[in-house]
Amino acid sequence: MIPAKFDYVKPRSMDEAVRALAGGGEDAKVIAGGQSLLPLLRIRLACPELLVDVGGLVELRGVTDAGDSLLVGAGTTHYQLVHDPLVGAHCGILAQAAALVADPAVRHRGTLGGSLAHGDPAGDLPAVTLALDATMIARGPGGERRIPAASFFFDYLTTALAPGEILTGVQVPKLGAAWGYRYEKFHRTAQAWAIVGVAALARRSNGHVTEARVGLTNMGSVPIRARAVEAAAAGAEATRQALTAAAASAADGTEPPADLHGAPDYRRHLARVLTGRALAAAAGA
Ligand SMILES: Cc1cc2nc3c(=O)[nH]c(=O)nc-3n(C[C@H](O)[C@H](O)[C@H](O)COP(=O)(O)OP(=O)(O)OC[C@H]3O[C@@H](n4cnc5c(N)ncnc54)[C@H](O)[C@@H]3O)c2cc1C
Repeated sequence: MIPAKFDYVKPRSMDEAVRALAGGGEDAKVIAGGQSLLPLLRIRLACPELLVDVGGLVELRGVTDAGDSLLVGAGTTHYQLVHDPLVGAHCGILAQAAALVADPAVRHRGTLGGSLAHGDPAGDLPAVTLALDATMIARGPGGERRIPAASFFFDYLTTALAPGEILTGVQVPKLGAAWGYRYEKFHRTAQAWAIVGVAALARRSNGHVTEARVGLTNMGSVPIRARAVEAAAAGAEATRQALTAAAASAADGTEPPADLHGAPDYRRHLARVLTGRALAAAAGA
């Protein structure tokens, strides 16, 4: 199908972008890589009257070292995440998950900000930012706002971003050397969406896991933390057996979707299995 008619502006700075978006009111939308928005426009699930294209704004791109954390620009593409040396050194799970997003063509155009702002529970990066305790940084007519990942994802395709706000970046605390990580994704075919995904981080000391963080992809209308698993894994021996046992509660309290790729019970089973695998890999077991 052909999208409904819309106006299009390509601002040259963030100031211009914020003004343009505010001027368009509730019928204006940001577009970055277009990898999620364009399909919605074509089937007319979204019919904005104005598109504000932030794809050309260099100030939104790239990764900077901010001491204890990295500042990742919202316009940083999946491809850049995979290859960025700072991301690889300090938040490698972001690169690992980005490498599993779609195919090379999508990874070259799609952005971190677009993935997060889109709020698709099947998206790979939201659960990763949740496990990393990242903070989203948004700018609107009222200035800058910082939103913890834990309060950013509201519902299916709905985030805490207010109309008129643009995500400018994500602050990601650096993982120290004691942390291991693994993003496990189960998909029907290579380069497809996650039926279930698990982002696991484990801090190790003396053969034990001292702290674990687990984010789940596609186990509800938003990405979620598997808190019961995190509690069970903390203090557990860093062995496959102990961490498989800790993963038994991975599906507790979840409401996974039913679709052509899997029933809720199948997804619950996957969540338990993948969480065990991801935690064991993260803990080096
Ligand atoms: C064939 C295909 C396969 C895919 N497979 C996967 C997959 O396996 N895993 C996965 O996670 N994703 C997958 N995707 C989705 C896609 O990779 C991401 O959702 C995409 O990268 C979003 O980024 P974008 O820059 O293209 O966003 P856009 O499409 O430009 O925008 C998406 C949404 O975010 C908003 N937005 C974008 N940037 C900002 C900003 N800076 N501030 C505020 N709002 C903003 C837009 O208004 C829109 O609502 C796939 C997409 C395609 C086309």
